[in-house]
Amino acid sequence: MSSNRTFTMIKPDAVEKGHIGAILSKIDASGFRIVSIKMTQMSKRDAEMFYAVHQERPFFDDLVSFMSRGPIIAAILEKENAVDDFRTLIGATNPEEAAAGTLRKEFATSVGENAVHGSDSDENAALEGAFHFSAREIY
Ligand code: UDP
Ligand code: MG
Repeated sequence: MSSNRTFTMIKPDAVEKGHIGAILSKIDASGFRIVSIKMTQMSKRDAEMFYAVHQERPFFDDLVSFMSRGPIIAAILEKENAVDDFRTLIGATNPEEAAAGTLRKEFATSVGENAVHGSDSDENAALEGAFHFSAREIY
């Protein structure tokens, strides 16, 4: 059974450039309901834990430094088919390959600094949401 929730982060690059409002507006216009949201900054240890699946990859250290260098917006989003529909909205990991109209096409600058995170499965959506929010912060 497919879940109706996904987890997202507006990454430090997009926050630094002042894109929070524009990105949230597109998320809203695309039919996602925000059920949790906060501005927060991950420590290096937080980022290492969040991205532990990538720890053997060559980009891991850069990813951890990037994701912990400034504040992010973390949010849980609700919509039918949320995980897949949100991956479609954000576009490919590499903005050069992202389709027109996607968030990464519009806001990302590189494959590393790609503006927005979206969970890749229902299982990871639940784990990632629980990493950032307690049960009483989900509405
Ligand atoms: N990343 C990177 N270099 C790469 C691939 C990924 O810096 O070659 C970063 C990028 O920020 C990406 C994150 O690591 O969003 C997680 O990678 P993943 O393959 O899970 O991509 P995503 O699911 O975010 O599209
Ligand atoms: Mg991923």
